[in-house]
Amino acid sequence: MSTIDETLKANEGYSQTFRSGQLAMPPARKLAVVACMDARLTIEAMLGLKTGDAHIIRNAGGLITEDALRSLIISHYLLGTQEFMIINHTDCGMLTFKDAELQEKLQQATHTSAVNPAAFHAFSNPEKNVREQMQKVTSHPWVPKTIPVRGFIYDVKTGQLTEVSS
Ligand SMILES: [Zn+2]
Repeated sequence: MSTIDETLKANEGYSQTFRSGQLAMPPARKLAVVACMDARLTIEAMLGLKTGDAHIIRNAGGLITEDALRSLIISHYLLGTQEFMIINHTDCGMLTFKDAELQEKLQQATHTSAVNPAAFHAFSNPEKNVREQMQKVTSHPWVPKTIPVRGFIYDVKTGQLTEVSS
């Protein structure tokens, strides 16, 4: 059985005891989180959030990409979130490569180049990266200055979050 088949089996059980069908679309706690996709991060559990509480936007690195900005702007203007949180973490896969190396490796493996993605955005300093991501949000003309934008590093060994000063 493939993993996807296993997940479908698990969903049968999940839907049998499902009790969250009446939740409203806007996040109840008015929070949006941008976090790395790393499989060791269980965002709801680490932040004490329940289904329906927050928007959780994830990608490799927890980066404020054009798509993350798109989601944050929709999150605030259409669905009422009032606080933004950015979460990077220790031992991130984005620290393990350089964009140029990966691009070359892919071109060699596939014998072709590609226009997209234009960059993979590897980085070497998580604190500095979080600061840059916070700046991308706070400097955006469509993000109101009244929205707190706070950044954090999650320690995958201890489960602790540490705030990064802006
Ligand atoms: Zn990561």
